Amino acid sequence: MKKNSCYILLALFAGVFYGCTNEEPLYKPKYLPVIDASVLPKENRAMTMFEDDEDPSKMYDKKDRSFRVNEPLQLFLKGTDSIQIRLYLPVALSNVKIYAKLPNYEKRFVIYHFSKIPAFHRSFHKIPLTEKRHDYLLETGNTVTIDQIQGFSSETIEFSLECDDPLFKKLKKIKSRHLVQFDDKYHKTYDASYHFVPMNPVHAKEAITLLYNYSYALSHPLYYDTFINFDKYIQERTATASPPYAGPLYWHGNAADKDGVYDYLSKEEAEQLYWKYIDDREISLAMVGGGNAYGGGNLVSAYESLYISSHWRGDISLWVHEYSHHIDMGHNSSFAVYGEIAGQSDMMSQFYQYLIYLDDLPFTNPDILQSWTKSTYLRSNHKKPVFKMNANNPFLLKYKGQGKWN
Ligand SMILES: [Zn+2]
Repeated sequence: MKKNSCYILLALFAGVFYGCTNEEPLYKPKYLPVIDASVLPKENRAMTMFEDDEDPSKMYDKKDRSFRVNEPLQLFLKGTDSIQIRLYLPVALSNVKIYAKLPNYEKRFVIYHFSKIPAFHRSFHKIPLTEKRHDYLLETGNTVTIDQIQGFSSETIEFSLECDDPLFKKLKKIKSRHLVQFDDKYHKTYDASYHFVPMNPVHAKEAITLLYNYSYALSHPLYYDTFINFDKYIQERTATASPPYAGPLYWHGNAADKDGVYDYLSKEEAEQLYWKYIDDREISLAMVGGGNAYGGGNLVSAYESLYISSHWRGDISLWVHEYSHHIDMGHNSSFAVYGEIAGQSDMMSQFYQYLIYLDDLPFTNPDILQSWTKSTYLRSNHKKPVFKMNANNPFLLKYKGQGKWN
């Protein structure tokens, strides 16, 4: 049978061959082997980041340890012939394809296919193009053969990735682009009255896990809809309040309430604020061992219990509170107000619990980290967190199990 097929032999710097034929191609491509990153040879220098007993100075090294909440897998060109991969996830990813794109060839092609990348994995990989001529699978499904290329700079090769792991697909929906890092300056430079305390990798792994969940919840279409239509949410939330609800009826800003008069935000202003929650700012994480938690500037801090156990039970209110300071909202505003049932801390906590109930967060099982068992690294004792859904959750009452982000 005759077929119109066309395969391209591409030899950069050494001439380009186009092998087009109307005959059944005899050429059988030989692709590079699939890689299981959990069993790499020594030369890949594989390691697990945030091992429990790792020196905390490593997690506090911002050049080495930082991540964006919408980019769990990082790819870096190292030297001219290698890449480093870093996975900021508490569980493994399966079936990851890393593509390369060269400036003078418009199609992407697979240079690594990982069957598995373990949790918090880091390793180095020689770029196969720098070794010898190889066949590569194109994104179109065809084959390209490329001769050896001596080396690359960030201008001469571009990497991208695809992964059909359901977890990865879920994380790719996150709209926040926050750059998250850990900062030791708070416990090193502030006096004891602030109660900042050092963190270690057990806290860091929980923080990373929590931040994917929180960023996913913030990005969720149902949350956006409720945020913008907050007046409707308040009406429904307070319809049966006893005594009757007499508080603010929409988001209000930093000005103090004067005899029941609030500086209400317009829907446009509320929308602008929503986008601030999910922009690309830098976040510096710290921990407090007592007294107040703090937020503001880059800083977001919380108690050990919030990092280790509370968030698994859906108590995310303090996190929301400090995060709101981080986007310049104060205690008078409904974004960081204390104890207001029509405030953001309460709304997000209720929503977060509804997402745990729906199993619509990236991570809902505390067993993936088992941090409560790691008493050597913790400041106090913690029990295994157990989530219980409140039957009066306003999102459950309204959506009755619907609203999952498909
Ligand atoms: Zn506060």
